[in-house]
Amino acid sequence: MKVAVVKETGPAERRVALVPEVVAKLRSAGHEIQVERGAGASAFFPDEAYSDAGATLIGPDQLSEADAILMVGRPDASQIGRMRAGQAVFGLLAPLTDPELVSRLAQAGVTAVSLDLIPRTLPRAQPMDALSSQANIAGYKAALLAATAFGRFFPLLITAAGTARPAKVLVLGTGVAGLQAIGTARRLGAVVSAYDVRPETRTEVESLGATFVELTSVGSASGTGGYARALTDAERASQQAELADHITKHDVVITTAQVPGRRPPLLVTSAALKAMAAGSVLVDMGASALGGNVEGSAPGETIVTDNGVTIIGADTLPSTMAAASSAMYARNVSSLLTYMIKDGAFTVDLDDELVAGVVITRDGAVIHPALTKAGPAGGPAPEPASSPAPDPAPSPTPPAANGD
Ligand code: NAD
Repeated sequence: MKVAVVKETGPAERRVALVPEVVAKLRSAGHEIQVERGAGASAFFPDEAYSDAGATLIGPDQLSEADAILMVGRPDASQIGRMRAGQAVFGLLAPLTDPELVSRLAQAGVTAVSLDLIPRTLPRAQPMDALSSQANIAGYKAALLAATAFGRFFPLLITAAGTARPAKVLVLGTGVAGLQAIGTARRLGAVVSAYDVRPETRTEVESLGATFVELTSVGSASGTGGYARALTDAERASQQAELADHITKHDVVITTAQVPGRRPPLLVTSAALKAMAAGSVLVDMGASALGGNVEGSAPGETIVTDNGVTIIGADTLPSTMAAASSAMYARNVSSLLTYMIKDGAFTVDLDDELVAGVVITRDGAVIHPALTKAGPAGGPAPEPASSPAPDPAPSPTPPAANGD
């Protein structure tokens, strides 16, 4: 098979879909690999490393020659314009929040494969779980960013010049990223507490040496497939009010809460921010154009409030560790690609739950049940990403979480 790797065009995107080590593996499996010139440069993989691994360097106009195009993020209009009907395109396409991109991919006639829809609970999908690999990196980097921005120590430090008490860190949302943030903050010596609306995460939190914060005003919001469901308005208000008391008792808050296909839930209100001590730091991993976990946070920006609280909108953390995140992503995407190659040809077997979970467009049509009008398991279609409603009512979960 002929496989092409694009040079990413997304803002602040430094990752690349294949690293030279994985190129060499695909080459020895008999595939022809083309890499767009400069594709790996910002992840510290020069063109020569790809050539040495057996890839051919190409220009963007040659992308249409490939059977499959691999990317990390989403294609822009000019990349879609160069695609050829029948080609496969792999990426973290975020289709639940970008219906416009989905219809453009369908119009281009490509078979679009979205790694963020992988049914993660299937054991055979684990090597392909790019959400987890990237969330792990993001959680690690969030804790480092927080420690760097905090004007005091994370660990207890006893010196001749005095004793520094350890920082109190609160992690909100304890999925893959949150657990890695807890582990990293603990390794730096902080005293860590954590909260998640899925109470079953308590055991994992405690096993990392952190204290699980239990809220009395909100019950479990566990959805299916391991994901959380969106809260009702009343639940959200209670959660925000009760969390505020905990937030003000901490020096550092790292927020990682997500509900698939939805605006990230708002957990830290401006009232909570006002009550925090000067010098406190928040790292909002949910920061997005639609709003984040922290009121007023902005993706890619660091804001200092009037009362001296630093809010870091940390939406592109995996990209800040592009060499590591690309290496992990390359293993994920190459595993999925090779899984879909049968007898040397790219094959879309929709009877396979894993394949049906990731293919969103084919032969000019949108085929994924979470994106068609019926929605998953007969539920409503997802709301468009541009929906102005903050943290709206429950909606369909992705395939891994079918039937909330
Ligand atoms: P995610 O990124 O979707 O969300 C991060 C966390 O935010 C979740 O723990 C979620 O419960 C929490 N959250 C959502 N709304 C919240 C709110 N209002 N208040 C507080 N917390 C809130 O999660 P993820 O890291 O992608 O993981 C989702 C699940 O998938 C987890 O249960 C994880 O264990 C599971 N998972 C399973 C496998 C596997 O089985 N192989 C692999 C990866 C992940």
